[in-house]
Amino acid sequence: MTTSAAVPARVLTVAGSDSGGGAGVQADLKTMLAHGVHGMSVLTAVTAQNSLGVRGAWELPVDAVRAQYRSVVDDIGVQAVKTGMLSSAVLVETVAGLLAGTDAPVVVDPVGVSKHGDPLLAAEALDSVRTKLLPVATVATPNLDEVAQLTGIHVEDEAGMRRGAAAVLDFGPRWVVVKGGHLPGDPVDLVTDGTEEHWLRAPRHENRHTHGTGCTLASAIACRLALGQDVPAAVRDAKVYVTGAIAGGFPLGAGIGPVDHGW
Ligand code: PLP
Repeated sequence: MTTSAAVPARVLTVAGSDSGGGAGVQADLKTMLAHGVHGMSVLTAVTAQNSLGVRGAWELPVDAVRAQYRSVVDDIGVQAVKTGMLSSAVLVETVAGLLAGTDAPVVVDPVGVSKHGDPLLAAEALDSVRTKLLPVATVATPNLDEVAQLTGIHVEDEAGMRRGAAAVLDFGPRWVVVKGGHLPGDPVDLVTDGTEEHWLRAPRHENRHTHGTGCTLASAIACRLALGQDVPAAVRDAKVYVTGAIAGGFPLGAGIGPVDHGW
C-alpha cells in the first residue's frame, strides 16, 4: 500500500547565489526550511563571496533564468515568490515579465548594493525595477538606501519614511515595507498599502553579524503569505523571525557573519 504525505506549501526564490552561504538564495532556502515550506530557486547570478565582500559576480543567460522558472511553475507550482539580486536590466525585465503571469503573491526585495558596498544591480537597471518589477509586486521591501535610489527621497525620520513609502507605492506594488533599521534608535519598519499603516518596532541587537538580513526578511514574508497569512500579519511575524535571526548572528571568516536560522 502506498501512502501520500501532505504536500507542503511551495515557495520560490528568484535571486543570486552567495558562495559564503549567508545571503541570497542560500539565506532564502534556509528561511524556507525554517518555515516548513518547500523551497525552490531560480538562480539569476553567481557571486564569489565571503564575509569580507563580493569578489566577483556572473549573471546567468536570460534563457537559463526563463527555463528554471518555467520548469518550476509548469510542474510543481508556487504559492509565493520572492525576488532578490537580479543583476541587470535585462534580467529585471525578464523576471518581471514572467511574474506578470502568476497569481501567487510576489515579494520584491529591490536589492541594490550589499552591506559591503558591492553592486548587486546595475545602475541602468533601476528604471526597469521602477517601471516593470515594482508594478507586479504584492509587497516591496526597500531599505532606506533603496528608497533613496528608487525615489530620490533621503529619509531621515519617520515622517520621511511615510513620504518614501508613498513614493514607492506610486510605482505600483500593493504594499511596501520601508525598513528603517539604519535610522538611529530602535529599528522601526513601516508597512503600508497607502491606506493602512503599521509601524513595527523591535529592540536593537548590537550584533555586527547581520549578513543576509534583507534576504531573510523578504523570504520569511513570502513563506508566511504562502501559508495563508495576510500581508500585515506576514510582515509582523517575518520581522519577529528576522529579529531572532539577527540576535543569533554569528562570526564566520574575518568580516561580517551571517544571521542565524536556528538549526
Ligand atoms: N549577495 C547576494 C547574492 C544577495 O542577494 C545579497 C542581498 O540581497 C547580498 C549578497 C547582500 O547581503 P547583505 O547586504 O545582507 O550583506
